[in-house]
Amino acid sequence: MGMRRKFIAGNWKMHGLGSSLSEITPIAAAAEALGDVDVALCLPATLIQRAAEAAPALAIGAQDCHRNVSGAHTGCLSAAMIAEVGASLTIVGHSERRQDQHESDADVKAKAEAARDAGLSVILCCGESEAERDAGEALARVTKQIAASMPDGAAADWLTIAYEPIWAIGTGRVPSSDDIAEMHGAIRNQLRETIGGEADKLRILYGGSMNGGNAAELLAVPDVDGGLVGGASLSADKFVPIIEAAARTK
Ligand code: PEP
Repeated sequence: MGMRRKFIAGNWKMHGLGSSLSEITPIAAAAEALGDVDVALCLPATLIQRAAEAAPALAIGAQDCHRNVSGAHTGCLSAAMIAEVGASLTIVGHSERRQDQHESDADVKAKAEAARDAGLSVILCCGESEAERDAGEALARVTKQIAASMPDGAAADWLTIAYEPIWAIGTGRVPSSDDIAEMHGAIRNQLRETIGGEADKLRILYGGSMNGGNAAELLAVPDVDGGLVGGASLSADKFVPIIEAAARTK
């Protein structure tokens, strides 16, 4: 476990105008001061270039990319476009996109591979719905999602998995530590089946209502290698305590 450095990634979703850029400087300063943890902020595409210029030492990411290199896809952005303005990573397969934009596991796999080909690191999301959890199908659902969306050539130097139960996103509800440990263990085993020994190097983040109050407990769960943070990443006041908790967790 010691070999996987903790990773805290923020996801601003569709939040943030230029006025929000003032939050980034103190986040970058905390990330640098706390050296022992990797930190990234996945921003609206409109803020990537300015954020990368304001905080050159902080990893800035996007929240999606198109699966194709270019083409007739009005309103979409390719991985190379995002990389060109300063992103070093992107999220793919967030549940909000799987739902709102009807993205399939095959789409997510293709997007991850497109991002990798453009030199980006990837955070690939998975997670079950509340109905699937209640029906006892969470483990089967998520491991199937992982198997079907795993990009070719998956390796820890560019790929991270984020487990985000849909019912925990933005709701203030979090699974029990036992349920998270069981799920992260199942994801790790599924990864071992697909990519062998490399699976033990890949980081698996937990996402869903992580905040400064619960981060230490969530980050101490076995096989939890960091967090993907929505609401609590929007301000330095809320995000920095999560980075601090990660730096304290060995
Ligand atoms: C997310 O959407 O990735 C997320 C984890 O959101 P929140 O932290 O707000 O639940």
